[in-house]
Amino acid sequence: MERTLAIIKPDAVERRLAGKILQRIEDAGFQIRAMRRVHLSRKDAEGFYAVHRERPFFASLTTFMSSGPAVVLVLEAPDAIKKWRTLMGATDPAKADAGTLRKEFAQSIERNATHGSDAPETAAFEIGYFFAGIELM
Ligand code: GDP
Repeated sequence: MERTLAIIKPDAVERRLAGKILQRIEDAGFQIRAMRRVHLSRKDAEGFYAVHRERPFFASLTTFMSSGPAVVLVLEAPDAIKKWRTLMGATDPAKADAGTLRKEFAQSIERNATHGSDAPETAAFEIGYFFAGIELM
């Protein structure tokens, strides 16, 4: 079993897509091990995306991610990191495969509905950013 950190981003929560996305998560066979609604501050978003600090879209991304409530989740499944990224689809919805969440729900490369950890080390950092170990037992 593997765990990954997923986020239903502010664009999707604002458009009332959280329920549909949660249904897709359960239909795909993930166990939801933890879940919380959060409204990130700008500083919270900057800390979460610290690896992207040098990217040209960092200010825009952290403004967007702190613009409204999001839903953060810990998903568990065999090969959860890859499985969740496959369900999300490519970062840019224009390049995402049919049937993926981003193809269906994203509005742009930035407002792309969902987040998923990209490697085991990132998942460990990102899960710890939002959840205490005791919430995951
Ligand atoms: P992910 O792992 O698929 O989420 O993609 P990245 O780690 O490359 O980027 C993190 C997030 O930054 C993406 O999910 C988007 O919300 C945003 N992002 C990525 N590329 C761009 C871009 O070229 N322009 C803008 N404005 N945002 C971007």
